[in-house]
Amino acid sequence: MINIVLFGKPGAGKGTQAEFLKTKYNLKHISTGDLFRYHKSNNTELGQLAQSYSDKGYLVPDDVTIKMLQDEVERNPDTNGFLFDGFPRTIAQAEALDAFLESKSWSVTATVALEANDEILVARLLERGKTSGRADDQDEALIRKRYQEYNEKTAPLADYYKQQQKFYEVDGIGSVEEVTERLSLVIDKFN
Ligand code: AMP
Repeated sequence: MINIVLFGKPGAGKGTQAEFLKTKYNLKHISTGDLFRYHKSNNTELGQLAQSYSDKGYLVPDDVTIKMLQDEVERNPDTNGFLFDGFPRTIAQAEALDAFLESKSWSVTATVALEANDEILVARLLERGKTSGRADDQDEALIRKRYQEYNEKTAPLADYYKQQQKFYEVDGIGSVEEVTERLSLVIDKFN
């Protein structure tokens, strides 16, 4: 069982890389952002709740997000491991993930951070917004609000995983293939 947390700011390339890594390592990819968008497009109660936060660039409350993540893990009992993308995003989520995995005698194997400069990322997201249809990628003020949330609530997770000696940083700037290669060098240590 290898459980990888893909870490990085919005636009760092987590989703793009996850598409390659899930096939390469036979992992179940779970993106909480994608799950919330799925609920929104199906107009479920959870989707409406999530939208009321993500429309403003805020994180969705921990209890809701943690429950959704756990349900998704439970739905995939036979996987080789998980690739967590966009989760955890707060210390409370990281603690809940550790406790939840431990209850199954699993653990986070490694957290890999995709590093990139904010200005490059803002430009990338605005570009993505032209085709993705995501309202939160089309408004620079909203993008900067998401980065503020990241800096306040998510960035402290680097220290959380460093204390567990599970934190690895990778340069997120380069071609998709180059970045996959850098991530693979980390994951291969555990595979
Ligand atoms: P993403 O696609 O990962 O950028 O997520 C889009 C939006 O979904 C975020 O701006 C948040 O509002 C919400 N979201 C996704 N993952 C989480 C999470 N782990 N905790 C709280 N909110 C999240």
